[in-house]
Amino acid sequence: MEHLSVTNALKCVLESVKKLDAETVRLEQSLNRVLAEGVRANRDQPPYDVSAMDGYALRSADLATVPATLAVIEDIKAGDMPCKTIQAGQCARIMTGAPVPAGADAVIRVEDTRAAGAGHVQIDHAVRAGNDIRCLGENMRNGEIVLTAGTEITPGVIGILATVKRAHLQVTRRPRVAILSTGNELEDMNEPVDPNKIPNSNSYALMAQVQALGIEPSLLGIARDDPAELAEYLQRGLHFDVLLVSGGSSVGVHDYVRPTIESLGVKMLFWRVSMKPGHPLAFGTTSQTAVFGLPGNPVSSMVCFEEFVAPALRHMMGHTRLYRRTVNARLAHAVKVRPGRTEFIRVTLSRDDAGYIATSTGTQSSGVSLSMARADGLLVVSAASSGLAAGETVTVQLLDGTVFQNDAGFEE
Ligand code: AMP
Ligand code: MG
Repeated sequence: MEHLSVTNALKCVLESVKKLDAETVRLEQSLNRVLAEGVRANRDQPPYDVSAMDGYALRSADLATVPATLAVIEDIKAGDMPCKTIQAGQCARIMTGAPVPAGADAVIRVEDTRAAGAGHVQIDHAVRAGNDIRCLGENMRNGEIVLTAGTEITPGVIGILATVKRAHLQVTRRPRVAILSTGNELEDMNEPVDPNKIPNSNSYALMAQVQALGIEPSLLGIARDDPAELAEYLQRGLHFDVLLVSGGSSVGVHDYVRPTIESLGVKMLFWRVSMKPGHPLAFGTTSQTAVFGLPGNPVSSMVCFEEFVAPALRHMMGHTRLYRRTVNARLAHAVKVRPGRTEFIRVTLSRDDAGYIATSTGTQSSGVSLSMARADGLLVVSAASSGLAAGETVTVQLLDGTVFQNDAGFEE
């Protein structure tokens, strides 16, 4: 198979993984999940016309000439039902959220009134019918679909679900994800430091990338570069929905991952992508597991996760927005690239009045993992490009999924 473009590789991945089935979760556990059912309102909300202000409910016609003095015949608090009908020359004191009494067609806020002797209030300016009244059903109508299947559950959505009293709901299941590192040279977290070994960082960086998507992965440990041992570990991984294998997917004589997973019945769909870093990315499937053979270089592993694994996991969880947010930025300096591969350059972002400025995090060797640790985003350089000039406008994928920034970004 020839080298796939990033776009075609991603297309292949997304066509190969399916949205998972639904499960029931409690409202309190549903944040950031995706609704697998449409949700209807179970009542009119508000259930009647209510006041939007603390003030007085009155007949707007009584304010044809102002100032006007009105008799206060009732005091209606939120949670009370009014007992009286407002007649000409009358009004009721009313609190925010309380039902507007019969006869009244407007509310005036207390700040626009003044006391005028026992049981009376003076109003200095007119208001229109409907002023400061929230109409019956303005927020939602009984029976109406308020949330469609596929909606991501944000705090705002939680508020709606609580409004319609959904203590339990159907959401798309999260994929079960296993992470396996491979390589004789690797030393795990719990092993003593051996200066001749390479610390296994990929299992943990990948773990965190998976966690950032709301999934708790299983770490399968480290398999040595030995076909029999590898097969044993891989077999364990094939019980999961997604198996991430770090290292060994290249073409070195001890890179046994591809032949071993194929011998276990995984259908390989590609094993080369025209990208830098991340060139030796492999992908295959069984009827129940999607297997990613990620390059062992720490930066390549993380970039391949961002570009392929994250969209696949989000697709499986029922999300429709699969990709990192991109912003335009101006390049702080020239960038040299060779045409032929899509490049992902790790950058920090700063801002001036004209917008974002992208600056490389330093050496872009795929072995320098600090280039990733320091990055705010990935600058995407198209495969056709033969270099970028300082000041050129570029596209940067934000690595921070929650998209916070270090200033308010506006002036009062
Ligand atoms: P490989 O893809 O197995 O050829 O590995 C490429 C490079 O990545 C080698 O220098 C490995 O030592 C390094 N590497 C492989 N796996 C890991 C890992 N789990 N953590 C950190 N570095 C790794
Ligand atoms: Mg290796």
